[in-house]
Amino acid sequence: MVRIKIIPDKYEKELSQIKKISSEMINDCMQCGKCTAGCPASSGMDILPHQIIRHLQLGQFDKVIESKTIWSCASCFTCAARCPRGVDLARLMEAIRLIILRQKGNNRLKVKDIGHLMTDEKMPQQAIVSALRKYSK
Ligand code: SF4
Ligand code: SF4
Repeated sequence: MVRIKIIPDKYEKELSQIKKISSEMINDCMQCGKCTAGCPASSGMDILPHQIIRHLQLGQFDKVIESKTIWSCASCFTCAARCPRGVDLARLMEAIRLIILRQKGNNRLKVKDIGHLMTDEKMPQQAIVSALRKYSK
């Protein structure tokens, strides 16, 4: 029997980085949709949370990084609490954001700049949460 590979290798490096940063097993997701059903931010997302994981399973990292969903995620961890397979989607979202920022070379936020950024109403709340996580350890 001839096996046909349907998952492209193009984003293998990024997908392995996501696994390394998040420590999550993308293929454990069974697409039940419970994460999306409980997500308080899903109405503002162009790709729903469970669909983000499906794109990752299919190696479609380009679709994920083009989506505004990863920046709409509030890191509330509701999805992680509801997942019957123990997949922490919030950690995956954070890993994706980190990879994008690193690729853009924009991960050099300085501690002294954070206070100023928090007064900017247009600043995505996710950026502030990430900055606090990064510098509070
Ligand atoms: S709740 Fe878990 S298993 Fe279900 S779709 Fe979301 S990540 Fe996948
Ligand atoms: S962590 Fe993000 S994706 Fe998960 S429920 Fe909260 S807002 Fe939705």
